[in-house]
Formats: sequence, structure tokens, C-alpha cells
Amino acid sequence: MTKVPSVIHWFRLDLRIHDNLALRNAINEAENRKHHLRPVYFIEPDIKHKVGVNRLRFLVQSLQDLDANLKKLNIRLYIIRGNAVEELPKLFDKWQVKYLTSQVDIDPIYVKQDEVIDDIAEKKDIFIVRRVQHTVYDVHSVLKKNNNSVPMTYQKFLSLVQDVQVKDCIEITKQISDHCNPKDKDSKQYDVPSLNDLELDESALEPLKYPGGETEGLRRLNMYMARRQWVCKFEKPNSSPNSLEPSTTVLSPYISHGCLSAKLFYHKLKEALNGMPHSEPPVSLLGQLMWREFYYTAGAGTENFDKMVGNSVCTQIPWGTNEEHLKAWAEGRTGYPFVDAIMRQLKQEGWIHHLARHMVACFLTRGDLWISWEQGAKVFEDYLLDYDWSLNAGNWMWLSASAFFYKFFRVYSPVAFGKKTDKEGLYIKKYVPELKKYPTAFIYEPWKAPKSVQAAAGCIIGQDYPKRIVDHDKVHKDNLQKMSAAYKLNKERKALKRPLT
Ligand code: FAD
Repeated sequence: MTKVPSVIHWFRLDLRIHDNLALRNAINEAENRKHHLRPVYFIEPDIKHKVGVNRLRFLVQSLQDLDANLKKLNIRLYIIRGNAVEELPKLFDKWQVKYLTSQVDIDPIYVKQDEVIDDIAEKKDIFIVRRVQHTVYDVHSVLKKNNNSVPMTYQKFLSLVQDVQVKDCIEITKQISDHCNPKDKDSKQYDVPSLNDLELDESALEPLKYPGGETEGLRRLNMYMARRQWVCKFEKPNSSPNSLEPSTTVLSPYISHGCLSAKLFYHKLKEALNGMPHSEPPVSLLGQLMWREFYYTAGAGTENFDKMVGNSVCTQIPWGTNEEHLKAWAEGRTGYPFVDAIMRQLKQEGWIHHLARHMVACFLTRGDLWISWEQGAKVFEDYLLDYDWSLNAGNWMWLSASAFFYKFFRVYSPVAFGKKTDKEGLYIKKYVPELKKYPTAFIYEPWKAPKSVQAAAGCIIGQDYPKRIVDHDKVHKDNLQKMSAAYKLNKERKALKRPLT
């Protein structure tokens, strides 16, 4: 008896059934040709050393949910332990693969994987289909429209996409025929691993505040879209970085993992705004989604987008190194309660508000510590549930005034900024409990509290909570001068490179 050939859908950053055109292509191909359908996801054995613990938990939950949703369509998910580039070619032979689908991802890890797999597939006569479905627009078409150069401003980006018709989302609702299921359909070998299988002790962990999965992503989206007035009035600068419950949607972890389609979010927003007075980009909710498209376009069009050197859009700044300061920042021990509260929330919950990200990113780089944005981006990569290659790098460049934003003289104060939206410091008291008995007058500047007040609050500065690692009032002025000098030097270098006319 001849072996039945297979069709593979390769899940990466598209952990969903809804609006997954590449998956639908795979289903149709399997049905039409009576082939087996095997949707796969690769987990590297050392993943726990590569992905922060909260993001790994989010990923495992998303895979469990994906498998459950696939099962409703009479399909299962095949988890393959190993590296995609090594394992896929083995599966090509083992399963007699004829057709492979996946989504277009611009993160260089996936781009490199695609290049290797394309070569192998061509030799084996395997047909590959890739679909743009992680962004609203096809960012490569946007670049083409801009003569293959990166639009350096948000407004320019908007002008490039204003006439582009966004396609409708697609749905997959019909169960697949039994003949598309291989005999190994029920093999435990391919099950989604538990955290214990990945050598993480689940019992020692608090439940995730934002659990992973398509089901939760869609629930969250629908919950916010039902609040039509809120959506229409949304203005990012008016949302609070230090409210005790999030003042923005927290859809980012779901969009980043592809549990939620950015295109579905786009269409739902358009529906909610239709016929109502509403805020506009860049501050509106639709405007936020467009920031994502902007950074994706910039990331797709720039070599070494996540590095300073060799990155054509990034200003070269002679950042310093200071391991102790970097560690104190990452662990929330800078002695500035607002900064520390944000970093501790990030580490515990995996998500912080956009303006909180502004605060800590500015503090690490041009504001206070004069440490490279690349170092900060690595810490964020470890802690963020919503880590995304292009958004992380693009926003870090913005905050460090290395690209897209150049008003480096506008520095966030680690004392005054948080007070605007939380005078009493309730957010600080939640995430820096050492200070919970501090009087409001000293909650942002505990080093100013007299010794008697410190003792009465049960927290002596320098003993129970760190002294400030730098004096903001002094260092930010020194840093302004360094930024000014770096900008001047970059300008001179650029002028020298300009061809003589
Ligand atoms: P909402 O305000 O509800 O916005 C809705 C969606 O729009 C978000 O889910 C997100 O997909 C998109 N969005 C919002 N703001 C931005 C923005 N500034 N840039 C790009 N897309 C945006 N976002 C990530 O998803 N992954 C990252 O790795 C990431 N790293 C960042 C690093 C720094 C230093 C900074 C300053 C920002 C970073 N952001 C990142 C952008 C932004 O902070 C988050 O997308 C946003 O806070 C997520 O919360 P939300 O879903 O409630 O956003």
C-alpha cells in the first residue's frame, strides 16, 4: 500500500484558527488531494533558557488552547521537540510532505529559517505557500511604494497606506474529513508539553495575570469592543501608566503571539468607530495599531534593526556600560520608587503600560544611567509577554532618541512623572511593598524622609530599600550634553558621507 502524502501547516507567530489564511490553504489542499494534514509547532529542548518564564507559560497555554480549538475542527496539533531547521527536513521524508504553509514573519530568526527551508523544499519538490497575516498591511508592499526605503515618520507611513484596501478576515468552521487524519493522530508523542515537561516547577508559580490563548485573546477583544464609547474616546496620552488595573487593552501579548489577528482588531475597531465621533491617530486606538504597522515596516526594511551598529536608521551614541546599574534597574532596585515599581510589575506580570515603558527606557538610556538601549531591549525580551522583535527595537530606539524621535532634551522625571496620575503613590505601594507605610509626601522621594519618619514607616533607606543609584537632577543634565555631542558628531559624519555636488 502506498503511503498517503502529507500537508504541513507550520505554526509560528500565528497561534490561532480565526483569520488564518495559511492554515485554510493547508486544509483545502489536504481535502482536495485526500492528503494527511499535520499542523506542527517546534519547541526547542532548551527553550526555558531562551524565553522568560512568564512568556514561556503564556506560550504553553496558547498552544494548549490552539490544540483544543483545532480539535473542534477534527484536527490536532503536532508538537515537535527540536529546532525547525533540523526537524522539518526529517518530517518532509517521514511524512512524505508535498505542501507546506506558514505565515510571513519578519523577525530575522524566521526569515533565516525560511531561506534554509525554501532550499530544501525546492530540492524535494515541496510546494510552499506563505501568507501575510501578522500585520494589517503587507509591509513589503508598503516599502515598495516608498521606493524601497523606510518611511521615517508615522505620518509618512499613514500616507502610504491611506488608500490600501484591507482585506476581510477569513473563518474556518467546517470539520475536516477523517481521511485527512493520519493513524498517529492520537499519539501522545506529539502532545503539548506541560511546564513540568519543560522542567519548570508550576507549583511554585502564581497564575498568570494575562493567560495565553486565542480564546482569551478573542474574549478580551470583544470585551473592549463592546465598550464603544471608551473605544471612540480613547487617547493614549490620557491613559494612566500607573493605574492598578490596566488603562489600555492589554491585547499586545495576544497579537504578538498571533493568538489574535491584527486584521480582526482593525476591522472591529472600524466597526466600533463607524458613525460615531472619535479620536484620531496617532493617539486613538486605531492609531496604536498603526504604530505597530509603522514599526513592522521599519523593521522589515532595515538591516540590523535590533542593533545600533550597522543599523542605518539608528543614531550612533557612545553608551557606557555599568553591570551593577543595569542589574539594579532590571531588578527594580534603583532607589527611585516609581522606576522600581514599574520594573517589578514587568517582572511579575509580564506587561506594563506604554508610558511606564517610556519612563524606564528613558531612565536606563539618555535620562539617567547612560546604558545602551540594546541592553534594555534584552531585559524587555526576557520579561515581556508581548515581546516582539520589531516593536521592541523600534520603541527602544524612539525612547533613547536614537531613531524616529529626536527631542532628546525632553527627559522623564522619575519623581514628577508618576505623580501626575497617582499622587498618593498607590501603584508604588502595591509593587514596592517595603514603602507601603510611607506618607504620601515622601512616597516618590523616600530619601528625603527624616530618619524618624523612615523608622516609623518600618523602612530605612539604604537598609530596607536602596539609596538612589544616581542623582537624577545631576546626571540627566550631564547626559543632555553627551546626547548633544553625539548628535553633533553624527551630523558631521553624515555630512562627510554626502557626495560632493
Ligand atoms: P493599547 O494601547 O491597547 O494598543 C493596542 C495595540 O496597539 C497594542 O496591543 C499593540 O499591538 C499596538 N501598540 C500600541 N502601542 C504601540 C507602540 N508604541 N508601538 C507599536 N505598537 C503599539 N509592544 C509590543 O507589542 N511588543 C514589544 O516588544 C514592545 N516593546 C516596547 C518597548 C518599549 C521601550 C516601549 C516604549 C514600547 C514597547 N511596545 C511593545 C509598545 C507598547 O508599549 C505596547 O504595544 C503597548 O503598551 C501594549 O499594551 P496594550 O495592548 O494595552 O496597548
